Amino acid sequence: MSKPSTKKTKKATAPAKKAAGGKSKIKYTYLFGAKTDGDASLRNLLGGKGANLAEMARIGLPVPPGFTITTEVCTYYYENGKKYPSTLDASVREGVASVEKQMGKLFGDESDPLLFSVRSGARESMPGMMDTILNLGLNDKTVEGLAQKTNNPRFAWDCYRRFIQMYGDVVMGVQAEDESAPDPFHEVMHHLKEELGKKLDTELSVEDLKELVKRYKALIKAKLNKTFPQDVYEQLWGAIGAVFSSWMNDRAIIYRQKYGIPAAWGTAVNVQTMVFGNKGDTSATGVAFTRDPANGENVFYGEYLINAQGEDVVAGVRTPNPIADLKKDMPKAFAQLLDIRKRLEKHFRDMQDFEFTIEENKLFMLQTRNGKRTGLAAVRIAVEMNKEKLMDVKTAVKKIPADSISSLLVPVFDTAAVKKATVLAKGLAAGPGAASGKVVFTASKAELWHTQGVKSVLCREETSPEDLRGMIAAEGILTSRGGVSSHAALVARQMGKVCICGASEISIDYAKRIMTVSGKIIKEGDDISIDGTTGEIFEGEIKTADSEVIRVLSGKLKAEKSYTFQLFNTVMKWADSFRKLGIRTNADSPEQAKMALEFGAEGIGLCRTEHMFFEGDRIDSVREMILATDKSEREAALKKLLPYQRKDFEGIFKAMDGHPVTIRLLDPPLHEFLPHESAARNALAEKMNLPTEVVSERCRALEEQNPMLGHRGCRLGNSYPEITEMQSRAIFEAAANVMKGKKPVKVKAEIMVPLVGFVQELKYQVDIINRVAAEVMKERKVKIDYLVGTMIEVPRGAVTADEIATVAQFFSFGTNDLTQTGLGMSRDDSGSFLGRYKDLDILPKNPFASIDQGGVGQLVKIGVDKGRATKKDLKLGVCGEHGGDPDSITFFHNLGLNYVSCSPPRVPVARLAAAQAALKQA
Ligand code: ADP
Ligand code: MG
Ligand code: MG
Repeated sequence: MSKPSTKKTKKATAPAKKAAGGKSKIKYTYLFGAKTDGDASLRNLLGGKGANLAEMARIGLPVPPGFTITTEVCTYYYENGKKYPSTLDASVREGVASVEKQMGKLFGDESDPLLFSVRSGARESMPGMMDTILNLGLNDKTVEGLAQKTNNPRFAWDCYRRFIQMYGDVVMGVQAEDESAPDPFHEVMHHLKEELGKKLDTELSVEDLKELVKRYKALIKAKLNKTFPQDVYEQLWGAIGAVFSSWMNDRAIIYRQKYGIPAAWGTAVNVQTMVFGNKGDTSATGVAFTRDPANGENVFYGEYLINAQGEDVVAGVRTPNPIADLKKDMPKAFAQLLDIRKRLEKHFRDMQDFEFTIEENKLFMLQTRNGKRTGLAAVRIAVEMNKEKLMDVKTAVKKIPADSISSLLVPVFDTAAVKKATVLAKGLAAGPGAASGKVVFTASKAELWHTQGVKSVLCREETSPEDLRGMIAAEGILTSRGGVSSHAALVARQMGKVCICGASEISIDYAKRIMTVSGKIIKEGDDISIDGTTGEIFEGEIKTADSEVIRVLSGKLKAEKSYTFQLFNTVMKWADSFRKLGIRTNADSPEQAKMALEFGAEGIGLCRTEHMFFEGDRIDSVREMILATDKSEREAALKKLLPYQRKDFEGIFKAMDGHPVTIRLLDPPLHEFLPHESAARNALAEKMNLPTEVVSERCRALEEQNPMLGHRGCRLGNSYPEITEMQSRAIFEAAANVMKGKKPVKVKAEIMVPLVGFVQELKYQVDIINRVAAEVMKERKVKIDYLVGTMIEVPRGAVTADEIATVAQFFSFGTNDLTQTGLGMSRDDSGSFLGRYKDLDILPKNPFASIDQGGVGQLVKIGVDKGRATKKDLKLGVCGEHGGDPDSITFFHNLGLNYVSCSPPRVPVARLAAAQAALKQA
């Protein structure tokens, strides 16, 4: 994500090094408050939270003062056996002193203590992954001081019990033993409430809270045989250490893997003055978005809790109120929030997700960041913010993650099917889309089912970071509690998962593995369907239908009727105005070609001819061709195939209507076409009038130890030139037929020879193709527009590209095979170790999904440079999976390729990614 504008702010102190007493000393802490050292541009050093706290302080928003310990300290900590730099202690004390001065209170003061929150904050936000400790600085003495000073003992003891719980959990490690065990502090609280006959924690009296504190301390003592620390600096260092340690906890590691965040970035620690939302009915805490992060609508969106501290909102302890209600609860603070909502968007020029606390009617800002949003919201917000002049077109294009476009194309529930379905309940629409699956109540089971190919909907009262893997595995997420800023909503938005939360009519019984809703019992394993766009939950599985965008593109819906389509169309037009790369598609049939054209493809970059061989009974002719013992037998079989292939190409040429079509000649090893079971072999033998043993013998002879490196690609065409000849004839005759048909169609054929490593093996093939072309053109008296080129998909092809370019008229990099042959890794067999390689940071991404830029990418670069050195205007494209991957697209753009080719549904994503690559370079 790009940085917010900082033009209007004062110049920040230079990062890292600062002269002090003649010696150059690294600056490890940055103040924010009355004096602010950092700003939004220092995100890498201060983390997102720290940088934006500084930025908000700079523009005059009410931020409680504090200081940020930089991410460099985290890096240092892990590189030096969990030790801190020697100067850190002094810097922290200076930071504390500065805050003490601003607040007129002292840390640890027994009559009027200054309290801190200690908060983690990495470069990219990682919601709920790391730990925060609130109310730090309370002990048996300061709590009394706070009670007296505020004249509010209930509040003071409420803070103390919260602090002991958080500190005991996060810093001292008093936690649930396993996934199914209850949290020990919750247990203590629960028992006490039961004894007292009280339900809500707000009902607890001062005496109750004192008792709770006593029991919490006893719990820690019992579990650890250690006492809860009374020294406030010991507390502070404990908390700082816990935040740094949380960078390496399991959930943070899983999260980083999923989102490709390097471990080396580290987290910052923010030490900030506490403000209190738990001071009674004039206090509150909340979370808000400047727009709806689920669908992107320009409405104020969020929720709050009266008399609470921040963690209550996220943890779903009580169900928060929608932000609109604040208008009547606290009109002044609400008006101020509306104003801040505007100012934030104007300043950061993006939708903001912010946290606030109201202490005795006074509003404080605790955090702001560019809000995570669904794909749909990303598109809508960019388009609308552009209309509102908050973003120029270039920024709007850059702001939409290219993959978001695909969320406008995913299926929705079929309207007719929905009408017939039974609505079980309604919840908050938190992640748009349609999902059906079997009800599952635990994350681990969702994961297990996923590996078995069973689709599930994860149903929980609320989710926590421990559920992350299950949330990834499930089709959709449903919670019965928690609001729009609950963990479930947050994660779903980010992952683009279908999600409904806070469906309060549902009650879940984990032990019995059932949920009850409007008198119905739904068991684990039953089918349900959830519509994350409307919030509706349905019984059973519901049929899905094409998205609005696809219905408009295929002429089934009017463009004016679909706002989603208009958003899609605006973004695609923008993208096309910036991109330099052409976008083609990989399509083997007229239907696919047509769909790709509707998505905006400008040609076919890869049409595989072998797929055509499997249809209907042509496979028999293919098998005859393969099993033929001599050339004349083979030619006879090929003759039967010719009309089929010709017809296929006619269909594709017609569908593409003059757009270029790159056709790859036969590529796979021949034995792939042969029957493997004896029954099928017998049948084939009978059909061919040959003894079974002969057929079996031929099949065996064709088997290879390592077919990927065997008799395939142009090696086949060189062994059996008549195959190339037949395929060329089919292509050129098809071209002639459609060009001279009743409704003449233009043809641009690009014939592609696969797996070339030696110029000579290409040369033999090119000669055949050109000869056949000349024959057909003479026979049919037409001039066909065609090129002959090659795939570059083995390393030797790339490094001898200068020689190959003397014969080829174009190259298409087959990056799938180039990755297999370049890395010596089989796409089909690398699953067993790629996960481990990702963990070890050897290969951060799957090289078959996103190109290995440093290795395979360099082979492409060599191919480009050498090819163009021979032929300046050599046309260059990519036809591997990587053609639809945004990062790879950026890489290919920078190499100066002419086009990328990807599967039809990826075409819109590729268009946007190509535009972003062009804008990044400019
Ligand atoms: P996360 O990154 O998980 O959101 P935060 O550091 O933002 O964690 O802290 C979680 C919550 O703790 C915040 O939403 C806020 O309500 C509360 N909080 C943090 N700092 C303060 C503070 N200085 N005063 C009052 N509440 C705070
Ligand atoms: Mg936060
Ligand atoms: Mg290949």
